Amino acid sequence: MAAHGLRLHGFGFKILGLERVGHLLASADSAAWSSHARHRPALPGHTHKNCANCIDYALNWRQRVINAIPTHQQVMLTDRSAA
Ligand SMILES: [Zn+2]
Repeated sequence: MAAHGLRLHGFGFKILGLERVGHLLASADSAAWSSHARHRPALPGHTHKNCANCIDYALNWRQRVINAIPTHQQVMLTDRSAA
């Protein structure tokens, strides 16, 4: 579908999926970070029960995902998010 010029979105995409086919996606989302945070104590200095809805936790998770994606694909993802 991507080869036909369709801009694809990956719903609930895991890191492994992004590593393999992220270069074919225009965008992707996942709630994995929120689920992960829900079962752990809040980050140090955070006053809420857990970080399931926390921007700091989400941004830390985002960086982890970016670090997991091969470098040649990170450039493409960065370019798309800046548009
Ligand atoms: Zn938090």
